[in-house]
Amino acid sequence: LGSRLFQPEDTIIKLPHSTIGGKGGFTMMAGPCSVESEEHVRRMAKVVKEGGATLLRGGAYKPRTSPYSFQGLGEDGLKYLRAAADENGMDVITEVMDETHVDLIAKYTDVFQIGARNMQNFSLLKAVGKTKVPVALKRGLAGTIDDLLNASEYIAAGGNHQIMLLERGIRTFDNKYTRNTFDLAAVPVLQKLTHYPVIVDPSHAVGEWDLVTPMAHAGVASGASGMIVEIHDDPEHAFSDGPQALKPKTYLKMTKEVFELKELM
Ligand code: PEP
Ligand code: MN
Repeated sequence: LGSRLFQPEDTIIKLPHSTIGGKGGFTMMAGPCSVESEEHVRRMAKVVKEGGATLLRGGAYKPRTSPYSFQGLGEDGLKYLRAAADENGMDVITEVMDETHVDLIAKYTDVFQIGARNMQNFSLLKAVGKTKVPVALKRGLAGTIDDLLNASEYIAAGGNHQIMLLERGIRTFDNKYTRNTFDLAAVPVLQKLTHYPVIVDPSHAVGEWDLVTPMAHAGVASGASGMIVEIHDDPEHAFSDGPQALKPKTYLKMTKEVFELKELM
């Protein structure tokens, strides 16, 4: 269902405040890694909006490597995220980790994010495939391009064809200086194979804030339909992924440059 042979035209996902996919446009999505408090996400949402983003991100259910790390605020986090997005006229993207949360999270979000660690959680993919909520499917830590496409097929097979694919970096033999290896060639490859929008996530790809801007430039140059980035005004005290978070000033400079680069393409 996802193949260009089956559907030659680009899939375009329309949300109240955003259009994702198709020629010409570029969709910016940004926010903190985790929803930390009502006050914090509201403050971050204003910055996100100022940078030209139309989707606010933030995790309320977090897939942490350690069970002792912050796990997210749950439904309270969803409420804060939704309110912050509404206040600024933005759409919401947030992660769903468990099939039992699908109905609850659908009440608050415009897009389900399936995290890298859940790319092949087939019962979760089937569950979101039965909804009408657009799905942003992240490439797994060791997922091949075909693994990602097959995973997307689990969603589409259930009847939900509003899918976007996210390149967020993969594990390779050298992840000493970067958290993952940003596989930017995957962008044009996926665009050749599938009609779904392809989005880049330079934050999780590199894991270090000072590497995010150059890779954001490279991401737009790769031809992606959009980008998702993490920001925080006090990265040292962030509840998760502080080292890769852009401070507001850096984020605003980065998005300005990215939209300028897009204009040149
Ligand atoms: C996230 O978006 O915060 C996240 C956990 O991403 P990933 O699944 O790509 O690691
Ligand atoms: Mn994160």
